[in-house]
Amino acid sequence: MLRRSINVQTKRFLSTSLVLRQEIKKSVVETPVKTSTVASTETKKTSWRKYGKFLWRATYGSAILGAGYLGYSIYTEMNPKPQSPQTATTEVGAKKKTLVILGTGWGSVSMLKSLDTSLYNVVVISPRNYFLFTPLLPSVPTGVIDLKSIVDPIRAIAKLTPAEVQYLEAEATDIDPVAKKISIKHVSQTVNPGMSSKENIVSEIDYDYLVIGVGAQPNTFGTPGVYENASFLKELSDAIEVRTKLMHNIELAQLLPKGSDERKRLLTFTVIGGGPTGVELAAEVKDYVDQDLQKWFPGIQDEVTVRLIEALPNILNMFNKKLIAYSEFVFKRINIDLKVNTMVKKVDESNVYAVEKLPNGEQKEITLPYGVLVWATGNGPTNLIKGFTSKIEAQKNARRGLLTDGTLKLEGSDDIYALGDCTFTKNAPTAQVAHQQGIYLASLFKNLAKIENLEYQIASTEDSTVVDTLQRRVNKQKQGIQDFKYKHMGALAYIGSERAVADLVWGDWQNISTGGSLTFLFWRSAYVAMCLSVRNKVLVVLDWAKVGIFGRDCSKE
Ligand code: FAD
Ligand code: NAD
Repeated sequence: MLRRSINVQTKRFLSTSLVLRQEIKKSVVETPVKTSTVASTETKKTSWRKYGKFLWRATYGSAILGAGYLGYSIYTEMNPKPQSPQTATTEVGAKKKTLVILGTGWGSVSMLKSLDTSLYNVVVISPRNYFLFTPLLPSVPTGVIDLKSIVDPIRAIAKLTPAEVQYLEAEATDIDPVAKKISIKHVSQTVNPGMSSKENIVSEIDYDYLVIGVGAQPNTFGTPGVYENASFLKELSDAIEVRTKLMHNIELAQLLPKGSDERKRLLTFTVIGGGPTGVELAAEVKDYVDQDLQKWFPGIQDEVTVRLIEALPNILNMFNKKLIAYSEFVFKRINIDLKVNTMVKKVDESNVYAVEKLPNGEQKEITLPYGVLVWATGNGPTNLIKGFTSKIEAQKNARRGLLTDGTLKLEGSDDIYALGDCTFTKNAPTAQVAHQQGIYLASLFKNLAKIENLEYQIASTEDSTVVDTLQRRVNKQKQGIQDFKYKHMGALAYIGSERAVADLVWGDWQNISTGGSLTFLFWRSAYVAMCLSVRNKVLVVLDWAKVGIFGRDCSKE
C-alpha cells in the first residue's frame, strides 16, 4: 500500500516536474522574446529621450543665439559708428554732388538706409521728422499699437549711414528743374498757419540730383463735405483724431437714452472705401468694441454699428476671389454692416448720401446717419506734384503721378528721380513697391557716383592708355545699370476677430491664397519682420503682448 502510494507520489512528482520542466523550457524559449521587447521599448525610450534632449538643447541654443543676436542688433542700432563729415570733393578730387531727397516715407527712407551717403552730400527734406510704419496704422486708433511703436526718427535712421546727412524739417513747395532749386517752407508754418510772417522761414535749396518721394494724399474725388466732416487714415495725427472722435462719441452717447436716434447715430462708425485701409480699420474697431469696450460699457456691442461702404461689388479687390468671399463672410459673421455697390456722393456733419446699385440694375438714393466718418478711398497726387508736372513738358499729361523711365528717372529730366506713391506706374501704390524702389535707387546712385568719378579721372589725364582703361571701366559700370524690376511678394490684410487673408507669391510662379487664424499669426510675423528698425520690432511685439494681457483701454487719448 505504502509502495503504491510512493509510486503514485513519485509519478505525480515526475509528471509535475515534467510539466515544470516544460514550463521552464517554454519560459526559457520565451524569455529572450520578452527581453527583446523590453530592450526595444528601452531603446525607443532612450531614442525619444535623446530626441527630447536634442530638441531642448536646440531650443535652448537658438533662444540664446536669438537673444544674443537681438542684443547685438539693439546695441548696433543704439550706438551708431562715427560718420564721416560732408566734403566739397570726392576721394578723386571731383566736386561732390548734392543729392536732395524729398520725403521720409517708405521710398525715401528705404533709399537712405541702403545708400552709401559718403558718395554725395545728402540732404533730406520732409515736414515729418520720422518714418511711419503705415501697415500697422489701422491698429493705432484702437490702442492695439502704441503710436511710438511705429515711428522711427529720421535723425536716428540717418545716423546709421556712413556719412553725415543734413535733415531739414520743411515742406517743399516748388521745384525749379531748370535752375535746379527747391523752395521750402519751414514746417511750423504748416503746423501753425496763423504764425507771424517773421517766423515763416522760406528758403531755397540747390541740388545736383533730386529724388522725389513725397507720397500721395487722400483722394476725395471732389466729393462735397469730405474735408469738412471726415477723418482720414494716412498719418499718425489721423489715427489720433479717429481715436478721440470714437471715444468722445461713446462717452457722449452715455448721456442719451438708450434706443434714441441720436444715440444710435453717435454710435455709428462709418468707413468709406473697401480697400485694405478701410477693411483693416473697420475690423480693428469692431474687435475693440466686441472684445474690450463691452467690459467698460456693458451691452455696447449691440448698440455700436461698424459700417463699411464700398462703391464696387466687392471689398479687397486686389485679392483672390476666394479670399474676397472669405473676408465678406467674416465681416458678416462679426456683424460689420457691409454696403457694397454703394457710391458715396456727398457727406454733411451727420449723414452720408449715397447711391446704391440694386441687383436689378436700378439705382436708389440712400441716406445713412453716422457718428464718426473715416474716408479711405485711395490716393491722389499732392499739391507739390500737381504744380510740378506743368513744369516739364514730358510730365504734362501725368494726372495720377509722376512718369518715370525704367531707372526711375523722371521722363523729361536728367537729374530728377521719383519713387513710391507720387509716381504713376504699372505697380500698385504700396509700401512694398516704394521699399524696393528705394533699395534700387541707392544702388543706382552708387553706380552713378562711380561713373562720375571715373569720368572726372578721364578728364584730368592725358595718358591715352589710362583713358582707355578708365573708359572701359565706365562702360562696364554703365552696362551694369539695369532697369528696376518689382518683385511682388503678395498681399496681406487683417479682417477682424484674429483672422487675416494672404495672397502670397512663392518663387516666380506659385501663388498661395490663405485666410484664417493661422494666416493671422503669419500676418503678425510678416509685419514684425517688415518693421525697419529693431526698436520698432521689439515695441510692436511688446504692444501685442500688453494687449493680450491687459486688453485695450477705454481712455479718450
Ligand atoms: P509715404 O510713405 O507716404 O511718405 C511720403 C513722405 O513725403 C512723408 O514723409 C511726407 O511727410 C513727405 N512729404 C509730403 N509732402 C512733402 C513735401 N511737399 N515736401 C517734402 N516732403 C513731403 N502698403 C503695403 O505694401 N502694405 C501695407 O500693409 C500697407 N498698409 C497701409 C496702411 C495704411 C493705413 C496706409 C495709409 C497705407 C498702407 N500701405 C501699405 C501703403 C503704403 O503706406 C504706401 O504705399 C507707402 O507709404 C508709399 O511710400 P512713399 O514713400 O511713396 O510715401
Ligand atoms: P484703395 O484704392 O485700395 O481702395 C479704395 C476703395 O474705395 C476702392 O475699392 C474704391 O472702389 C472705393 N471708393 C472710391 N470712391 C468711393 C466712394 N465715393 N464711395 C464708396 N467707395 C469708394 O485705397 P486704400 O485702401 O487706401 O489703399 C491705398 C493703397 O495702399 C493701395 O495700393 C493698397 O494696396 C495699399 N494698402 C495696402 C494695405 C495692405 O497691404 N494691407 C493696407 C492699406 C493700404
